[in-house]
Amino acid sequence: MRVRRGWLTSLLLLTALAAGAALLGRHYWRSEAAFARTGWMERTEAIMGTRCYVQLWADDPAKGNEAIDAVMAELRRIDNLMSHYKPESQLSQINAGANQEPVQVDKELFDLIKLSTYYSQITEGAFDITYASVGYLYDYRHHIHPTEEQIRHALPAVNWRNMLLDEAHHTVRFEHPGMRIDLGGIGKGYAVDRGVEILKARGFTHAVVTAGGDSRIIGDHMGRPWLVAIRHPDDPKRVVTRIPVSDSAMSTSGDYERYFDESGVRYHHIIDPRTGHSASRVRSATVLAPTATQTDGMSKTAFVLGPEKALEIINRMPGYDAVFVLPDGHVLYSNGLRPAAPRPSGAPAPAPTATSSRVPP
Ligand code: ADP
Ligand code: MG
Repeated sequence: MRVRRGWLTSLLLLTALAAGAALLGRHYWRSEAAFARTGWMERTEAIMGTRCYVQLWADDPAKGNEAIDAVMAELRRIDNLMSHYKPESQLSQINAGANQEPVQVDKELFDLIKLSTYYSQITEGAFDITYASVGYLYDYRHHIHPTEEQIRHALPAVNWRNMLLDEAHHTVRFEHPGMRIDLGGIGKGYAVDRGVEILKARGFTHAVVTAGGDSRIIGDHMGRPWLVAIRHPDDPKRVVTRIPVSDSAMSTSGDYERYFDESGVRYHHIIDPRTGHSASRVRSATVLAPTATQTDGMSKTAFVLGPEKALEIINRMPGYDAVFVLPDGHVLYSNGLRPAAPRPSGAPAPAPTATSSRVPP
């Protein structure tokens, strides 16, 4: 990943150029100049229950179109394999049968389920695809949430360690009754990575692929970093911060995406696997890393563990960075994104370091 150090300077420069940034899912892209020039192409489609977007630079528009077709087809294929909304998907077959016997699935799906347990390990269980054992009781569109009694009953089934994964046969077996899984927290990141592989294999060197809150950028924006703006949790038109990024993935999770409010409580789609309730220790979390599978797998952590603990984990992970918007509106940055400390006038420039001073809370 290349996140520019000294990014505050680039930020000011790029902000001046970014008159008409467009909102896309949770990220704003600096694309106003792009379409004034030939070569940039873009398309948005509704796949995986969300907005999927591809933008690329193509010398040959026909090849650009074919490549976008191929990426969208790949996103649809992954959705058909892994959606828990589609009864015929292999993931739904696991949920239907793995309580009784091992269910065999394609290696691709098996590998992603296995990888999800890696994120459970490094996030101390904050990321856990078995959260769905209680998560299925929420219906955000119809403003339905489980009672305390229902949560108490369902919660013992939430524990990724009770998922038996047989590497040799690609089977999944649930060792606890009532267990369910859902890849909503990592599948879009994975799909974005697959889309990026398709574009790279076809020789594209400047592109963006997005699915919901998960995006990955190939290259830069013709010599400059892409300027990614992170929106205010309560106002989609307000920008909290901007980050210049090239050749990187990023995922933003927010409590404003799928939610409803009732009696002063926000019920939203990121669930604390320990309590069965929506996790509200941050309002939004953006994670940057080389791949979108990585950023998707990590973007739920701060909601559950809180920003300090999540930063501790992220700061230990080479190639990862994060920006958290806290409930009181403050913004926290990981070491690699902290703006440089002010220096007394005339003092020599410091040697470049991996860390800079903390943004005041
Ligand atoms: P998006 O799906 O739009 O990219 P997120 O990356 O924030 O949004 O993922 C939210 C989804 O993650 C939820 O809709 C749900 O499917 C899943 N999820 C919720 N809580 C957890 C959790 N604790 N661990 C793993 N996945 C979760
Ligand atoms: Mg995501």
